[in-house]
Amino acid sequence: MRDTMPKQGSRMFVYNAEEKAFATASQTDCLVIAPEDMDCFNRMLEEAASLKQPAANYATLRAQTEDGGFANYYVGVICAAPGSDIIITLTEISGVCLNSQKIDSLTGLLNRNGLSAWVDEHEEIFTDIEDEKYMVVYFDVQRFKVVNEMYGLAEGDRLLKYIGEVVAEAAGEDGVGCHLDSDRFVIVVKRPPDKRDLFVETLLDEILDFDLPFEVSCNAGIYVTTKNFHSADTLVDRAIIAQSLVKGSYTKRFNYYTEELRKNLLTEQEIIGMMRAGLRDEQFAIYYQPQYDHATGMLVGAEALVRWQHPEKGLISPGLFIPVFEKNGFITQLDLYVFEKVCQFLRFCLDEGMVIVPISTNLTRHDFFYPNFIDTLEGIRKKYDIPPEFIRLEITESVALGNSQFINEAMERLHSYGYVVEMDDFGSGYSSLNILKDIDFDIIKLDMRFLENGQDETNRGGTILSSVVRMVNWLGVPVIAEGVETVSQANFLKSIGCNYIQGFLYSKPLPEDEYKQHISMTNVGVSIPQKKLLDTLDAGNFFANDSLEELIFNNFVGGAAIFDYRDGKLEIVRVNESYLAELGLELSEKDVMSQSLLDGFDDEGRESYLEMLERAIETGAEQECETWRTLTSADGREERLCVRSNVIMVGKSKDAYLFYARIRNITSEIDGIAVLPDLKM
Ligand code: C2E
Ligand code: MG
Ligand code: MG
Repeated sequence: MRDTMPKQGSRMFVYNAEEKAFATASQTDCLVIAPEDMDCFNRMLEEAASLKQPAANYATLRAQTEDGGFANYYVGVICAAPGSDIIITLTEISGVCLNSQKIDSLTGLLNRNGLSAWVDEHEEIFTDIEDEKYMVVYFDVQRFKVVNEMYGLAEGDRLLKYIGEVVAEAAGEDGVGCHLDSDRFVIVVKRPPDKRDLFVETLLDEILDFDLPFEVSCNAGIYVTTKNFHSADTLVDRAIIAQSLVKGSYTKRFNYYTEELRKNLLTEQEIIGMMRAGLRDEQFAIYYQPQYDHATGMLVGAEALVRWQHPEKGLISPGLFIPVFEKNGFITQLDLYVFEKVCQFLRFCLDEGMVIVPISTNLTRHDFFYPNFIDTLEGIRKKYDIPPEFIRLEITESVALGNSQFINEAMERLHSYGYVVEMDDFGSGYSSLNILKDIDFDIIKLDMRFLENGQDETNRGGTILSSVVRMVNWLGVPVIAEGVETVSQANFLKSIGCNYIQGFLYSKPLPEDEYKQHISMTNVGVSIPQKKLLDTLDAGNFFANDSLEELIFNNFVGGAAIFDYRDGKLEIVRVNESYLAELGLELSEKDVMSQSLLDGFDDEGRESYLEMLERAIETGAEQECETWRTLTSADGREERLCVRSNVIMVGKSKDAYLFYARIRNITSEIDGIAVLPDLKM
């Protein structure tokens, strides 16, 4: 295909597919592919690794140059023998005539060179236009590799030829179609704004019609030209940038390029361009945010948080660079760096005989897919000889998305080495109490910032929060609240059984020196206790049920609630919808939870209810009673109800009991009013 293959400007990398790592990458020359071309590159790698025969695949991609910028490269991914290392070659394209051929032999469309020449030759059509601008449409085939694997290379080629015909037809007389490489295509056509969506939809629909029992779906990116002339490379890059946002989506099939998208990408590229030097030059600093026991005011731990102190750009927030590093995998390098710095710091404290509290460091989902990650952590810890109880690992629960078994194996190993693992950002959206049964977390970090508008005892969030804390406490898992900014939040958290607090109320994250001073002046308390096993088997069984939510919220059981009984007080933890329906009065969960369960009882009712609870505790068996209560609706209406309750104790700890209750409103039966059968049931 290529006429000249310059030696000059070529670089080579060796990739070990099994370990998913570059075998020879040095600190000074690492392969960094531009974010918009990562997908294509990863696909080439996967394809080379999975083929059962020697293979070479080429594409034009943007990659980082040795001086940190980005340029177009002719990238070859070569697998000389199945299972062997993969060789990746990068050849700089700029200024070199790589190919005089302009037509792709498989599809008959223009190839990348052909498109470049066509765009250069037609400069006037892009700059002359008034309203009917050109649109550049880029797309690739989702899971094209699967077609090759399942149906053979010949079928793969037949599909590409078919797409070639569709593209040629769609491009028409005054447009042009191009087969960039592998499964990537471009069309440049002139369409008025109101016809553009339809054009792309029709194109993608026609490709879907290909006669294979395989859905050939594509997502497209569209760049609409302006009066400024751009080379074919730029036009295609912008269409690819637009596509990167919808790639793989079933609901959104295409997307238009915007300047904002480009700016984000540029920031991303800038960050990528600076990251290696940043790590090498130790621009990443570790800050420590202290954690306290709000009941005693004592220091119980700290979280290590990374900051990027760039010599020219100043302080860069983790919110900006962490997501970029998570996307390109560099996060693992950074996490290991932070972990090592924390170990160094702890070693210093131990050597100086300073008081020590455990320090939490953050890990991400990506880390667990890095080969030998846990061994590497262990290696670092041992190098500094730090007892594992001084280090805690924070992971967000999204780590378990899709594969909790894999994560559980990792957790088991971490536990076997003595690490405490915390679930970070509980309340951030993925949260479900079920995750606590699926994954063996030791501590939960509840992030106040993720909960609706500032929680304290004065608003509705408070009741939801208190029910979550009660539930988690019942599971025997300690809770620490982070993002705590006000005294009233802290007091409220304490009142619902969450004493451990991290947040601006006590302290912002501090640079190492300030943190050192801080510990020397603060009383250090007993650190956060380990997860406890529940005292009763009942509770264990109860929570081990496949889905706690299902058990309580399965409305077939009728009105049901879970409540907590301590010091003569009953606090509802959760209720289901039928519970609210039984009581009537259009009560919401919030209304029910903000009233104490015994409030509306008369003296006799209260006494018989408490007696029933005592019987249930004594016997461990289900007990029943009927009581009258007065309920108040949200708008102040009052109603007297007779309720039959069946309760069973499902959990017991030193000072509290957990009950599961079913209720039935029997007011009409008692009143002797004829009740018609409810036909809707
Ligand atoms: P995170 O692990 O949930 O860390 C807590 C974040 O809350 C920190 O933001 C901290 O400064 C902030 N924060 C603490 N108290 C308060 C408060 O009272 N109010 C408010 N509004 N914010 C508070 P930061 O340092 O910007 O870190 C953001 C996120 O970046 C972290 O969230 C974590 O997910 C990630 N991150 C930070 N360092 C690392 C690291 O070394 N490795 C990894 N993988 N992620 C890190
Ligand atoms: Mg954290
Ligand atoms: Mg957090």
